[in-house]
Amino acid sequence: MQCEALKIKLSGKKIAFVPTMGALHAGHLSLVTRARKCADVVVMSIYVNPTQFGKGEDYKKYPRPLLHDKALALEAGVTHLFMPKNLYHENASTSVVENSQSQGLCGAWRPGHFTGVATVVTILLNIVQADYLILGQKDAQQCDVLTRVVRDLSLPVKIVRVPILRDQKGLALSSRNAYLSKEEYQAALALPQALKLASKQKSIETIKKQALLFLLKEPLIQVEYVERVGDRLCAAVRVGNTRLIDNVPLK
Ligand code: AMP
Repeated sequence: MQCEALKIKLSGKKIAFVPTMGALHAGHLSLVTRARKCADVVVMSIYVNPTQFGKGEDYKKYPRPLLHDKALALEAGVTHLFMPKNLYHENASTSVVENSQSQGLCGAWRPGHFTGVATVVTILLNIVQADYLILGQKDAQQCDVLTRVVRDLSLPVKIVRVPILRDQKGLALSSRNAYLSKEEYQAALALPQALKLASKQKSIETIKKQALLFLLKEPLIQVEYVERVGDRLCAAVRVGNTRLIDNVPLK
C-alpha cells in the first residue's frame, strides 16, 4: 500500500483517506462521497484495531462482513481498499499518546482507547500518505484528538469532518446498532431525542439536566456521560451491552 501510495503521489494525484473498522453502513459511505470531492484517489482502510479496545470490550465479536464491505466500498467509489491483517510488529514498542483532547468523556470510560486510535491512525497515515483524512463528526472526540495529533506532529494531512448520518428515526448510524434487539433499538432512540430536545434549552445547566432526565426515563438505558464540548452536546450511553455515542450542535 505504501509503494502504491508513493507512486500515486509521484504522478501528482491527491489521496483522500477514509479509515474504518468495516461493517460498513451509509454513514461510512457518506465519508467516501466527501472523499471523492477532495481527491481522485480514495483509499479506504478496513481494520478492526485491537489496541483501541479495552478488556471486556467487543473486539472479538465486532462484525467483520468483509466480502459485503468490499462490494459496498467499491460501489461507493473507493479506488483503493486497504485491508491489512495486522498493522503491529510483534514487539512493537511505540505509541502515540495525546494528553489533552483524549481526557474525559469517552477517554474516561475507555482508558487507552484514544492512544490506540492515535497510534493506528498515525501508522495508517504513514502508509497511505494521505492529503486528506476524512472523519465522521459522530466520533467528535476522536476528531478532536486526531486534529491535535496532526497539528502537534506536523503530519502533512488536512482533516475533513463529515456530518453525522442518521436513520429515519434519528439514531446515528453505527456498526454497533446491529447488536441491538428490537426493544433495545426503541430504547436507543431516546439518545438522539434527548440531545435534540435539550439542545434547545438556553443555559448549559438546563441543557445537561434535561438530557439526563429524558434518558433516565428509559429503563434500558444507562448513561455514561452528557457533556458540552465546545459548541456541541455529546453523550454516551449503554443500551444493554451495546455502547452508543452521539452529539448535536448547540445553538
Ligand atoms: P468506525 O468504522 O466506526 O471506526 O468509523 C469509521 C469512520 O466513519 C469514523 O470517522 C466515524 O466517525 C465515521 N462514521 C461512523 N458512523 C457515522 C455516521 N453515522 N455518520 C457519519 N460518519 C460516521
